[in-house]
Amino acid sequence: MRRREIDTPLDKGRRKRLVDVLKEKGITSQQVLNAINHIPRHFYIDTVFDAKAYDDIALQIEANQTISQPYTVAFQTQLLDVKSGTKILEVGTGSAYQASVLAYLGAEVYTIERQKKLFEQNKLFKHLSYYSNIKYFYGDGFEGLPNYAPFDRIIITAAAPYIPHSLLQQLTPSGIMVIPVDEGDAQRMLKIIKNSDGTYEEEKYDMFSFVPMLSGKQ
Ligand code: SAH
Repeated sequence: MRRREIDTPLDKGRRKRLVDVLKEKGITSQQVLNAINHIPRHFYIDTVFDAKAYDDIALQIEANQTISQPYTVAFQTQLLDVKSGTKILEVGTGSAYQASVLAYLGAEVYTIERQKKLFEQNKLFKHLSYYSNIKYFYGDGFEGLPNYAPFDRIIITAAAPYIPHSLLQQLTPSGIMVIPVDEGDAQRMLKIIKNSDGTYEEEKYDMFSFVPMLSGKQ
């Protein structure tokens, strides 16, 4: 993979326009918009997609996976309600762009990826300051990270066939999970809130399109 790791005034301008697009589409969290405005998305993709780095679209990364659409990243992050010090488990590191958005917001990020190639690549790429807030794991996200649980927040960035029970168990009381669950051709974005008495509440949002959440490692 070839990365362009210089952030030019042109890139900054393109990011500002992307932020305007996200606002028009309904993203209201100023914190989330700031993160998108700050983080050079073109660092996370191959240079062949350079011209499209700030279009509001998903793009191909290694191992036949994708970096999520910026609107999707913003929407999921907004639902997560991240504060400084929030401990988050992300399933599906991919390009590590979503993990970077969370880390930029001050979260303590634990991110897990089942594709070895992506995991290795992300471990090497850590020159941005907020990278120190991210811990990378190679494994199957269906199992979560029981040794590091509980988490205040859990975010799934692949299409889940169902809500994994093991992940619900790794949420703190009052914790939030944001997960796209399959409904045929697309996925319904769900926000699950764990009450302090151990019961759950579910809020339903729009449909999105993710690559599948698969079990096992590659
Ligand atoms: N958050 C990523 C989006 C990547 S696409 C980003 O910002 O770029 C979804 C990722 O989930 C893919 O890299 C895929 O390999 C990974 N994935 C799918 N099933 C998984 C599982 N069970 N455990 C961990 N990662 C998984």
